[in-house]
Parts: sequence; structure tokens; C-alpha cells
Amino acid sequence: MKLASRVAKVKPSETLAITAKANALRAQGRDVIGFGAGEPDFDTPDHIKQAAIRAIEAGFTKYTPVGGTDELKDAIIAKLKTDNRLEYKRSQVVVSCGAKHTLYNLAQALFEEGDEVIIPAPYWVSYPDIVVLAGGTPVILNTLEKDGFKMKPEQLKASITGRTRAVIFNGPSNPTGAAYSPDELKELAAVLVDTDIFAISDDIYEKILYADFPFANLAMADPRLKDRTIVVNGVSKAYAMTGWRIGYAAGPEEIIGAISKIQSQNTSNPASISQKASVAALNGDQQVVSMMVAEFRKRKDYIVGALNDIPGIHCPMPGGAFYVFPNVSGLYGRSYEGKKITNSTEFIEYLLDGANVATVPGVAFGSDDHIRLSYATSLTNIEEGVRRIKDAVAKLG
Ligand SMILES: *Cc1c(COP(=O)(O)O)cnc(C)c1O
Repeated sequence: MKLASRVAKVKPSETLAITAKANALRAQGRDVIGFGAGEPDFDTPDHIKQAAIRAIEAGFTKYTPVGGTDELKDAIIAKLKTDNRLEYKRSQVVVSCGAKHTLYNLAQALFEEGDEVIIPAPYWVSYPDIVVLAGGTPVILNTLEKDGFKMKPEQLKASITGRTRAVIFNGPSNPTGAAYSPDELKELAAVLVDTDIFAISDDIYEKILYADFPFANLAMADPRLKDRTIVVNGVSKAYAMTGWRIGYAAGPEEIIGAISKIQSQNTSNPASISQKASVAALNGDQQVVSMMVAEFRKRKDYIVGALNDIPGIHCPMPGGAFYVFPNVSGLYGRSYEGKKITNSTEFIEYLLDGANVATVPGVAFGSDDHIRLSYATSLTNIEEGVRRIKDAVAKLG
């Protein structure tokens, strides 16, 4: 069948594929421990669910304005002011069906053929494809493990050409957990100040930060960039609300208007009920967030230590999010049943088939020396899973 050529230009999300494969093995009765999930394992807090139930009972089940209700926009504006010291008007905020949808709409609004978009690697799987679907060209900037997977100002400078339209920032990062300090962002901002390049700041892991510095994004680090920064955030990760599908962007009125226009012709408004739940999340007790973060921190400390105990694996300490990104290239060249492991895909297949542990190959994020493990799963699962990985590695010839 002939499909539009854009279909062939994108690949399906690899993280969703590995979750599906692990689920299929479980359905066959295999006891698989999953480190693949890109979502909190906690339940959505009760006061948020109650707000949604009340919305349904009150009949708040119709279309809303395309870019979100004023009530939700005001909650987002208040959040950005309190947490980020950034001020926006309602016309500078748009709500979409998850931050992924926000990024997709934003790419459609900003990029076309010939536009280059700088994406630091390791990157979140969807960035390159979202850029490609808009007709743009991803320019991958490879960060180094020794730099904590953070781009350096000179690297950013070297990646800029006359066609550069935007840079995507994501800290804390999925998959590495790397978090930029306010000072590091200031240095990166200095590279962009005298250009007309847009900064897209994916702040989805803002709240899940372990570092000893406060969260910052580019607009916070250097106010001169606020008019060229589009802040993207959502409720999925901070409030364990991945299934509710609410994300948002704040930025220049013209770009936000363009996103709304595009959204008006694809999804219309995000779900009315989810919008009510998100108001409760943003305006409600924030202790639910700190409780989840405290739990993530315990798991992170355990999993980093346990992985570093395995000969051949080196696991850097993440500054945020709920992933570790260990370097497993020390095991490449070793073999099992006569088969040599030479890359991250072969290694994760060995772990899945040979040890019933689901992880994601680093190649999906632009680094074939690493694998990604999500520790959004119980400490008991983490202990058992890492024990299995250790046994599997010991069996390699
Ligand atoms: C999970 C995630 C998102 C998307 O979250 P939504 O559920 O679509 O709001 C965006 N960026 C990164 C880096 C993520 O990990």
C-alpha cells in the first residue's frame, strides 16, 4: 500500500515497544521485571481523582475552549509565577493533550523544510521524530558522560548554523537524569542571546530533582531569553497523571496562538475532566509530590549503588527524573551461547530473554554504549531485577 512518505520517515516509540514486548511475555506467564516504564508507578493522588469525579457529576463533560479553560490557564500562570518566577498572560498559555502533544503542535507551528533543530543526545526518543514530522532537520549534539551528559557552551556554539531555528533543552533529562544548574544554564543562554534561535524547554521533570541546586530553565536563567523561550510542562510526571493527558506551553503570544490554531484543527480541547483534575493538582497540596520524590530518591540511591557493584557496568548518579543510564559497553565483546554482545540492543535482548528483565537500549536515545532503566517500580522489584542482571552478567563468557 502506498502511504504518505512522512510515515517512512518516523520510527515508532521504542520505549512503548519494549513495554509492549515485556507485557506480551508476561501474558505468556513469564515473570518479567520491568524497568522500561516511562511513568511513575504511584497512583494519581486521591484529591485529584475526586476533582475529576466531581467534574463528571456536575456535567463538566462538554467541549471547552481549544487551548484550555481559563481556570486551568490561571492555575498554570500561578504555578509558573510561584515556582519559576515567570509571568504570563492567558494568551501566552496553551493546554494540550499531554506535553508530547504540546511539543508536536509547537514543532508544527515553528519548523519547516530547511530548519535545523539542535537536540542534545542522549535525547528523549520523540524529539527527533517530532522535528522530522514537521519537516525540520534534527541536528544531534552529542554530550559526554564525563560532562554529566550536559552540553557545554562551546558545543552549543559549534552546532549553530545559519539555519538553526531552535534548541531543545530537557533537564532533568529523560534518559540520563542530567540536571542543569542555574549557572550552567546562564552560560548556555549567553550563547543564544545574540541570535534569533528559539529555546524549547521541556521541564516535565522539574519537580523530580535531587541535585543541591534549585530548578531553573533558560528563561529563568537569563530573562533576555524569555521572549524566545517556550516552556513546556505538564502534570504527567509530577502528579502521576500520565493517563490523563494534560500538558501545556507558555511563551510568546504569537507562537502560543499558532499552537492553538493548529490544535483547533486536530484534537480541539484536551479532555474537560482531565482539565478539572489538573486544576486540583496544580492548586492543591504539593506534599503528594514531595512524598513521591522522597521515594524515588531512595530507589535511585539503591539502584545506582547496586548497578555499580556489577563488574563491567558503570552507572552515573542522576540529578533528577526517575531513570538511570548505565554504561554497559564494558560488556561488549562478551558472549552467551556462542552469541557475542556488541551493542545496547543485543544486551537488552539478552537481559529480557535470558534474565526476564525489561530495559531500553541506549541506541533509542542516541547512545549505543548505554541502557536505560526506569526505577519507577517498587524497591522489591528493583532489588530482584538488579540481582537478575548481576547473575546474567556473571554468566557471560
Ligand atoms: C514523559 C515525557 C514527556 C511527555 O509527557 P506527557 O505525558 O505527554 O505530558 C515529555 N518529555 C519527556 C522528556 C518525557 O519523559
